[in-house]
Amino acid sequence: MKIDKLLKEGFSVSFEFFPPKDQRGEEQLLNTLKELKTIKPTFVSMTYGAGGSTRDRTINWVKRIKEEFSLNVMAHLTCIAHTKEELLEILRTYREMGVDNLLALRGDPPKEGLKRRGCSHAEELVLLIRENFKDWFCICVASYPEGHNESPNLDWEVKYFKRKVERGANFSITQMFFINDYYYEFLQRCERAGINIPIIPGIMPITNFKQIFKFASMCGATIPKELTERLERVAHKREEVEKIGIEYATKQCIDLIENGVPGLHFYTLNKSRATLEIFKNIKDIVRWRS
Ligand code: FAD
Repeated sequence: MKIDKLLKEGFSVSFEFFPPKDQRGEEQLLNTLKELKTIKPTFVSMTYGAGGSTRDRTINWVKRIKEEFSLNVMAHLTCIAHTKEELLEILRTYREMGVDNLLALRGDPPKEGLKRRGCSHAEELVLLIRENFKDWFCICVASYPEGHNESPNLDWEVKYFKRKVERGANFSITQMFFINDYYYEFLQRCERAGINIPIIPGIMPITNFKQIFKFASMCGATIPKELTERLERVAHKREEVEKIGIEYATKQCIDLIENGVPGLHFYTLNKSRATLEIFKNIKDIVRWRS
């Protein structure tokens, strides 16, 4: 079911997964899917490796999630490493499978540098989808409240975000952030620029000390000083780190809900515990469209 339509009907809750590499990872994802299905999410999404390496795994997991779990699923697709014909083939596969939600992305260029194949930016992928599939797909695009690493400033960020919307994007999910004010300020900038699609905040519950600083620096998300200090004090105690992460994400979500966000998207890293705990904490203050 198309997500833009569901967003018009009510609040959305969604979970993001990545395609596992081995059997152990598969078992973990299956378990996580079983547990998080109990929350009745509005949709779930499956990431795509920017180099194209997860192509078959992503497609297979999208299929499994749809057929075995009967969940509404959105497939991520990155365009940087594919020719237009390859992208069209993947898109045709999804159409045949009845998958009608896509997250259209550029992906990170390989370290050796960018070699243009089909599309250089996500806006071209959005256009390719609209030109070839009209309104078959509901298209989501990424947005960056603190600015993408390659954007010199937020005016630039909003300018190119708007281009994706003009090419036909229906809604957006943000990069993770830990300071809600950045998201609210970004929304105001988008509104001033005439962008009027729903922008769902992306939430990353902190569960691992080293990993979160690595991720945050890779994607330019600021971790507030007080939170960093609290985490540093318990850095070697995994349970304590997770406890602080859950408490922080819960507060963040409550504030976002109170400020009228269209939904919440969780970067689960294929784990369920932290997300389940956060849902126990917020279930009484929000109802979502399942
Ligand atoms: P774009 O929208 O193309 O933007 C990239 C940069 O180029 C920005 O600085 C933008 O301002 C600039 N720009 C855009 N258009 C132009 C133009 N015409 N001319 C000049 N500059 C321009 N990565 C994966 O590999 N797989 C995933 O599954 C995945 N899922 C993600 C999910 C979410 C919700 C988010 C927020 C990110 C995800 N990413 C994923 C990361 C994403 O691929 C990277 O951040 C990537 O570097 C940018 O992708 P984009 O689609 O935002 O690119």
